[in-house]
Amino acid sequence: MIGQPQRIPEFGIVFCGLFYFHFINSCILNTIANRVGGITLKFSNLYRDEIGKKLKSGQYDVLVIGGGITGAGIAFDAASRVMKTALIEMQDFAAGTSSRSTKLVHGGLRYLKQYEVKMVAEVGKERAIVYENGPHVTTPEWMLLPIHKGGTFGKFSTSIGLRVYDFLAGVKKTERRTMLTSAETLAKEPLIKKSGLIGGGYYVEYRTDDARLTMEVIKAAVEKGTVACNYAKVIELIYESGKVIGVLVKDQLTGENYEVYAKKIINASGPWVDSIREMDNSKKGKTLQLSKGVHLVIDQTRFPLKQAIYFDTQDGRMVFAIPRDGKAYVGTTDTFYSQDAVNPNMTESDRSYILNAIHYMFPEVEISEKDIESSWAGVRPLIYEDGKDPSEISRRDEIWESNSGLITIAGGKLTGYRKMAETIVDLLAEKFQSEEGKDFLACQTKFMPISGGDVGGSKNFSTFVASKIAKGLESNLTLEEAEQLTRIYGSNVDLVFDLLKLNKSDAGKYGLPLFLFAKLVYGIEEEMVATPIDFFHRRTGDILFNIDLVKKWKKEVIDYMTDKLNWTNQEKEKYSLSLEDALTSAVTPADEQE
Ligand SMILES: Cc1cc2nc3c(=O)[nH]c(=O)nc-3n(C[C@H](O)[C@H](O)[C@H](O)COP(=O)(O)OP(=O)(O)OC[C@H]3O[C@@H](n4cnc5c(N)ncnc54)[C@H](O)[C@@H]3O)c2cc1C
Repeated sequence: MIGQPQRIPEFGIVFCGLFYFHFINSCILNTIANRVGGITLKFSNLYRDEIGKKLKSGQYDVLVIGGGITGAGIAFDAASRVMKTALIEMQDFAAGTSSRSTKLVHGGLRYLKQYEVKMVAEVGKERAIVYENGPHVTTPEWMLLPIHKGGTFGKFSTSIGLRVYDFLAGVKKTERRTMLTSAETLAKEPLIKKSGLIGGGYYVEYRTDDARLTMEVIKAAVEKGTVACNYAKVIELIYESGKVIGVLVKDQLTGENYEVYAKKIINASGPWVDSIREMDNSKKGKTLQLSKGVHLVIDQTRFPLKQAIYFDTQDGRMVFAIPRDGKAYVGTTDTFYSQDAVNPNMTESDRSYILNAIHYMFPEVEISEKDIESSWAGVRPLIYEDGKDPSEISRRDEIWESNSGLITIAGGKLTGYRKMAETIVDLLAEKFQSEEGKDFLACQTKFMPISGGDVGGSKNFSTFVASKIAKGLESNLTLEEAEQLTRIYGSNVDLVFDLLKLNKSDAGKYGLPLFLFAKLVYGIEEEMVATPIDFFHRRTGDILFNIDLVKKWKKEVIDYMTDKLNWTNQEKEKYSLSLEDALTSAVTPADEQE
């Protein structure tokens, strides 16, 4: 079911892989839970006390600071090699950069222009692996690169560049690039600027939901035994004889402080890696340079984009315009950033920049600020390079180890998360071997589905989806709803349907539609949802791509969460206000809010 023989040269490896996955999958419980010390913990804030107790008791092999995609990948890799692993996240999982990207699993075509051949080859190859292991969160998306006279890419250089990209990324035959005439380019997307158009390049990238991808990797880590907790902030490092041996954590929901001990501590805190290095007194040599990127969301009735486009802006940068769920999203900007990394927001100039880019490439599209339904901003944790513009700085990752033994992983891309994790956990395995003579398994994650990804491989995903519809109908969902839930949750959908069936009377009691309620119950029971924004942003993406739905159902969702999670009136008010703020920030530039 999982092995993809075409990707693995030796029969023996295929056989071992299949045997291993059969064994592993038979061990997975039918809920997202882990068994540490004989107790089954559900991955839910309803079990927060127990999760806290698990973190406090006993010593871990590995403690990961940061629940973005980098930390998630490391925890998954380490736990699947049977290292005793914990992960601590100060906000919600993925609330840092990993819910704020362009949402593409891609090699980064433009980096070829900067001769980043090694990075493009490595990250490009990871695309297929990420897709194969989680077809429910990643979808191939044909990308059109229009070529205009005097633009960034000429027709010849695009043809060569895309061919090199195909080669470096090991792209399969059916997905290799084709070059289009101007008429063919316009047939794919009639809204493109006609003046000066000389053709187009047509090639495949993969679209993802970054926050859900991160969530599925964290859940996979938890299924393998990781103890993970959100809203738990590392506020101090603990040392013995100059070596870091633990962390002091402040629970952001209860205010409690507690200690967690581990043999190896990994700083995977993205834009905050330098803050952790400051705690460690090891912020020396290379440092981070943050760069902000903004995206705008527009309804397709106003911007009827049919086709994903990667296009030139007037200042020679490149921007994506991508259709998704009846909307088009466009971005990104790339500007140095030195303010609060927790809450980066769109400014007026970000908004004008993207609107101008749309008007430049799609001159017939008449949109203005009023048409922006939502937006998001994220900060890239780049490694500082003297004298370079933000878009020129390399996206490669680096590992730094301090005298205290703190291991920091900086930079990188969403797409390369699995490989980054493999590198860092290989390093840990070497250390455990040389320091304790202890052997751990080699990396397992290349052929290991992430949570929900056990669907028989990407080729069988449609058949898998069709096979689940009857069960969804039994819970009174419509055919479309059952199909959509299966596409979102993959092989976890049985549990989504079961939870819906079990809790259905509450949907009526709180006046919530079944489709939304199914996601809410699953989010609370199995994905550590703690606040309305966790649900509406990181678990469903609705605040970005279906903001009207959020406005319509926020009261009912908050009422249900209040009862389920036992909120006080104060907590209810606090979370309601945060959601209102998020709804305002989605459409109002930060400088207009002040
Ligand atoms: C605008 C934009 C577009 C992008 N587009 C793409 C793309 O299309 N494809 C792609 O492959 N990559 C893309 N990237 C890059 C990619 O998003 C990042 O490389 C990746 O998300 C970084 O993940 P991370 O886990 O390292 O950081 P984060 O996701 O930020 O995770 C770090 C986590 O550490 C937590 N943390 C910090 N301090 C502490 C503490 N003291 N205690 C506990 N937890 C702590 C934070 O809260 C945070 O959640 C984009 C980035 C941006 C900004």
